[in-house]
Amino acid sequence: MGLAKKHVPIRMCIICRTRMEKYKLNRYVLIDRKFILDEKQRLPGRGFYVCNNLKCKNIAEKKFLKEKRKIFGKGD
Ligand SMILES: [Zn+2]
Repeated sequence: MGLAKKHVPIRMCIICRTRMEKYKLNRYVLIDRKFILDEKQRLPGRGFYVCNNLKCKNIAEKKFLKEKRKIFGKGD
C-alpha cells in the first residue's frame, strides 16, 4: 500500500503522566514570564505537555502559577 509508518513523537502529560502522541497534547512554553499555550508546538524553550483532560488542565494552571513564583519570586 506504500503507507510508511511515520514516527510519531510521544510525550507525557505532566499531571496524569499518560503517554500519548505529541500532537494530542497541549504544549505550554514559558516565555516572557508567562506560560503560553504553544498551539503549533513550535516555540523554542522547554515544553510542558498537558492532556485534554479538564482536571489536568486545571491542576496544570495552578502548577504553572506555582512554578512561576518559584522562578521569578513573589509579586507580579
Ligand atoms: Zn493528563
